[in-house]
Amino acid sequence: MEYITREIPVSKQIALVAHDHMKSQLIQWVEKRKDQLAKHNLFATGTTGSLLTKKTGLPIECLMSGPMGGDQQMGAKIAEGKIDVLIFFWDPLNAVPHDPDVKALLRLAAVWNIPMATNISTADFIMDSVHLDQNYATRIPDYHGYLAERTD
Ligand code: PGA
Repeated sequence: MEYITREIPVSKQIALVAHDHMKSQLIQWVEKRKDQLAKHNLFATGTTGSLLTKKTGLPIECLMSGPMGGDQQMGAKIAEGKIDVLIFFWDPLNAVPHDPDVKALLRLAAVWNIPMATNISTADFIMDSVHLDQNYATRIPDYHGYLAERTD
């Protein structure tokens, strides 16, 4: 697979997801970063998004709940280039029933080379990055070029 450049604009599409035991951490973190996050477009899986909207008042586009398909919806958005940053506090200490969906979401974030935080300190590093408030040229797989070259 060849690679091409995708321009991530100043205003970013940021996805927020947390497993049940991690939701309070994410809510506290979002509260702390609220002014910064308000400058971007926010997405979340169902329960995370609903709680975040109630607790912080931020406008958030909510997908379905993770175990009901929300992780897969988020993964599809990443594959379509509609998510620029993923903040995903998955639970390292408790099993979840939709583990395959969790892995798929993490995998797609890696495939499409989007910044991904799975804990508070990485989330802080992303939010304090100079790239957050600037355009950023990212390297992604050249999927259309790949299709065009396939003849078999
Ligand atoms: P939830 O899903 O926000 O609906 O709880 C999160 C997840 O488990 O992916």
